[in-house]
Amino acid sequence: MAYDQNNIFAKILREEIPCIKVYEDEHTLAFMDIMPQADGHTLVIPKYQAVTLLDLPATELTQTMQTVQKVALAIEKALDAKGIVLMQLSGEAAGQTVPHVHFHLIPSSIHTLKNHASEMADQAKLKAFAEKIKASL
Ligand code: AMP
Repeated sequence: MAYDQNNIFAKILREEIPCIKVYEDEHTLAFMDIMPQADGHTLVIPKYQAVTLLDLPATELTQTMQTVQKVALAIEKALDAKGIVLMQLSGEAAGQTVPHVHFHLIPSSIHTLKNHASEMADQAKLKAFAEKIKASL
């Protein structure tokens, strides 16, 4: 599938629309999910333009997974998370809604997750979680 330059995460990367940022480096960006499946739900994306995991070259995958682990450690510390669900949906058939590859970090249990991308969270609450996570990086 061709990469859509107008997908919402491409716009976030170009800073055309805002996000609640948690972490950024040369290769990756982490920000709060606006429809979290649990408190602290954070997304990690590569800056490389790939639609799914299957399109992501090994180098960029490694860089992204390093950020995934870094942010996961900060979430664990900041929110005293006893467990973190790492979720990645590749393809519409899997339920992927944004066609720029991303990894969900959800401090919760697979048995108690809220429905996927179903309910907008309060921005102030998301910002408060982001500040806590940032402080633990
Ligand atoms: P997926 O269905 O795996 O592609 O996940 C896309 C995720 O992006 C969902 O969990 C949405 O809640 C989230 N999302 C959609 N738009 C935004 C946005 N503008 N900022 C942050 N998260 C978003």
